[in-house]
Amino acid sequence: MTVIGTGYLGAVHAACMAEIGHDVLGVDVDVEKVTALREGRPPFYEPGLDDILIQALASGRLRFTTSLREAALHGEVHFICVGTPQQAGSRAADLRYVDAVVDGLAPHLPASCLVAGKSTVPVGTTARLTARLARLTPAGVRAEVAWNPEFLREGFAVEDTLRPDRLVAGVTSRAADETLRRVYAPMLAAGVPYISTDPNTAELVKVAANSFLATKISFVNAMAEVCDAAGADVVTLADALGHDSRIGRRFLHAGVGFGGGCLPKDIRAFTARAQELGVGPAVAFLDQVDEINKRQRDRTVALARRLLGGDAAGRRVTVLGATFKPNSDDVRDSPALAVAAALHRLGAEVRVHDPEGTANARRAHPELHHTSDLLTACRHTELVLHLTEWGEYREVDPAKLAGVVREPVLIDGRNALAHDEWRAAGWTVKALGRPSPT
Ligand code: NAD
Repeated sequence: MTVIGTGYLGAVHAACMAEIGHDVLGVDVDVEKVTALREGRPPFYEPGLDDILIQALASGRLRFTTSLREAALHGEVHFICVGTPQQAGSRAADLRYVDAVVDGLAPHLPASCLVAGKSTVPVGTTARLTARLARLTPAGVRAEVAWNPEFLREGFAVEDTLRPDRLVAGVTSRAADETLRRVYAPMLAAGVPYISTDPNTAELVKVAANSFLATKISFVNAMAEVCDAAGADVVTLADALGHDSRIGRRFLHAGVGFGGGCLPKDIRAFTARAQELGVGPAVAFLDQVDEINKRQRDRTVALARRLLGGDAAGRRVTVLGATFKPNSDDVRDSPALAVAAALHRLGAEVRVHDPEGTANARRAHPELHHTSDLLTACRHTELVLHLTEWGEYREVDPAKLAGVVREPVLIDGRNALAHDEWRAAGWTVKALGRPSPT
């Protein structure tokens, strides 16, 4: 099989498919990425990927190339794992990379095969690509398209790929279904639920899942805003809601909101696609979800400004965390960096600390000071903002940190630190949706 696109999704998928015994050719247009992967160096930080990649390369079951022609000749299943970012100037998904894969692969396909998409795409993409492939494949070659969306979480990607909560296969034939069942045979033997359906449903499952998760986060953040106005405590509220088994506590963490390369662009692409289908009003609530989410960044900046006495100009502030979530180096649409950049625009001197994301953060925001040394980041600072929930921030000794800062003032933008301990060490602690102790 081939895995085309070896980014956060594809590199992990390729290594895991080799791990479960398949002969895998990974393909990417990015020469540097392919070189790194061939040498067993993951091009990004993902726990456990280095080990599994090295093992797979050593087994001889995993190779990498930049050639789609070579890919076309390799195996009978081609997984598409390229990016589907938001289009510039629109909320819709940009499908040019997916289309480029199909266009590059099709003319070289020697025999009938299955093209299985894993990227997150607008509903209807499988049908569109089926027609596109049919036009471009050589006479007598039948390439079928299926959609097999991916649900992995960055930070747990290897585990999620090897032991997914479920597998979803959107197929148009029994043969395609059987092929995918063979690919995932070890998972099926381990009892992973396998949902076989039509491609439209499969494509929709993924965007529906992300929409639900985004809605849950924005719901609790909306409650945080109400808590702030009413003098109530959103963490206690979320705990109490979470005990209701119909609701559950997960994804009810109030804070600076969601980001990354998936949730924000996926809910926007969904609303754009729903409009094309004439059902825009059905998912118009996702615009609110997006607005609530973006507002938490503004609320965090406003809180920072208030704590700095109304003017951030010339003030030294420290942002803890650059990545959009912990255990990843991914800074795409990171709330932490958005807040850091906004404070910089207000004239603050912003230092950003991150355990793994410093290189990516520097590339994205060269105007900010970046460091992977926590004490350097916090020295003489007037305000610390905890904006990405890395485990190491929970290990920080607040008394020691109080000794290096100019003002011991903390915004816990993730509601994840032990506020009592920080206060006992002399810190003023503020958080969205939490009343301040009197
Ligand atoms: P990414 O940007 O990390 O990786 C995409 C890769 O595709 C890049 O390495 C790029 O060079 C490569 N590429 C682009 N055009 C190509 C071409 N013509 N041929 C070969 N390679 C090409 O993106 P990602 O985070 O891995 O996301 C990929 C898709 O998976 C998206 O649709 C995303 O929504 C979806 N997804 C991502 C995650 C996640 O956690 N990152 C989870 C589930 C689904």
